[in-house]
Amino acid sequence: MTVSLDLTTAEWRHLRRCIELATEALEAGDEPFGSVLVAGNGIALAEDRNRVISSGDRTRHPEFELARWAAANMTPDERAAATVFTSGEHCPMCAAAHGWVGLGRIVYVSSSDQLAAWLAELGVPASPVRSLAIREIVPNLLVVGPVPGFAEQVRDLHRRFYGSALGLG
Ligand SMILES: [Zn+2]
Repeated sequence: MTVSLDLTTAEWRHLRRCIELATEALEAGDEPFGSVLVAGNGIALAEDRNRVISSGDRTRHPEFELARWAAANMTPDERAAATVFTSGEHCPMCAAAHGWVGLGRIVYVSSSDQLAAWLAELGVPASPVRSLAIREIVPNLLVVGPVPGFAEQVRDLHRRFYGSALGLG
């Protein structure tokens, strides 16, 4: 479900930070994804980036790390009032973690459908885990995205990541 993009200046700033984190991941040789966990009062509490290549652990997605951080550090009410901003729509693993710990809204830049189309275009082999929209995993969650303009920046990061990985330059 795409809802209208009625984002505040601060929310745009959190999205820009997600893209910076995704860029940091890319520069460290990891997949270009970044996420920020923001409290109900608008304060950014935690952030992370993808670390699947550098750690050798394919579950090291930033959204999963933030869900566990929230479980360890926030009350259920605080989690429900929080928003996770992220450069790419949560995968099924991260959407489930988000739902299990009771976090609130998600704002993503690019959708899983967009990512699947971009990777197919680049000739990237299919992932072992099926791509599903967040709403397929957590049906009652408020989800905002994709964000036009920003999504193209994320596409560019994936092009750079897979361009070097696949020798597409
Ligand atoms: Zn994930």
